[in-house]
Amino acid sequence: MTCVLAIDIGGTKLAAALVDEAGSVLCSATRPTPRTDVMSALAALIEEVTANGPPALAVGIGCAGPVDLATGTVSPVNMPSWRGFPLREEVQKLTGLPTVLAGDAQCFALGEHWLGAGRGSASLLGIVVSTGIGGGLVIDGAPLLGPTGNAGHVGHMSIDPYGERCECGGRGCVERYSSGPNMVQWALDNGWSPAAGQEAGSTRHAADLAAPDVTMLRTGEQPDGRALARDAAAGDPVAVAAFERGARALAGMIASVAAAAEVTTVVVGGGVSAAGQVLFEPLERALDDVAGLPFVRAVQVRQSTLGVRASLAGAAKLAYDAGGSRPR
Ligand SMILES: [Zn+2]
Repeated sequence: MTCVLAIDIGGTKLAAALVDEAGSVLCSATRPTPRTDVMSALAALIEEVTANGPPALAVGIGCAGPVDLATGTVSPVNMPSWRGFPLREEVQKLTGLPTVLAGDAQCFALGEHWLGAGRGSASLLGIVVSTGIGGGLVIDGAPLLGPTGNAGHVGHMSIDPYGERCECGGRGCVERYSSGPNMVQWALDNGWSPAAGQEAGSTRHAADLAAPDVTMLRTGEQPDGRALARDAAAGDPVAVAAFERGARALAGMIASVAAAAEVTTVVVGGGVSAAGQVLFEPLERALDDVAGLPFVRAVQVRQSTLGVRASLAGAAKLAYDAGGSRPR
């Protein structure tokens, strides 16, 4: 049996799986990301997953950014112990297998294109809307990574050159409007307060909101974001306006990407996408308003179907695309 080892590295969780050519998971495990000595935890996880499975052909890694594909190093924002860490080399040494690396949002896009909501699409933009906004592109069926692995950083596309300063140093970035914390902040600034007696993130409400896929609420997602989605669904005008504002910024970015790269499908995942129609309905409406050219208007926006598994799936696909043919 043919399989590859897929690894997904985030600030809160490490995940690994043996994945066959059809995308089935043969064996998988996760563990929390430790504060220090992440590599030892990753090595133990790899050992656990590979011990009982068939031998893997190659390794694909999706890692929280920033990554530098030119050097194979990573410096994840939420993992202070890794700065310029030579992840590709370390994993290659450990496993003795060809090892490829990409950003986790790039792997999200590739995974959704391979097995998820973007299956069969010619070109795809994947967007992860969470505490920040990440993205990845699959163009004519192949991932577009860029020389250093930074292609697809759509959260920092400026949709308003006169807009507010962004944490990245730029101005008017879509992330300033559409990320979970920024939508919550805008709502709070405009008089919203989470409804009394409905504790944010309680099981009762989370169950309604997270449908259809609770696993899409990424760890680390702010409970306030869920409360905002709940209140928007209940018709709170400020909460509704916060989502409409966020959706409109996303629509501007999506129309721009579609015009530049002729993506046919956009898959939206991340914790904020779990809000469902509260986000997607105004997004469709805004896109209908901002998009002009027929091929831009034709773009299909879909909710992620793989959720947190998308990055792992993309990492597996990355390994298949590279594995065996390119010894490193
Ligand atoms: Zn920015």
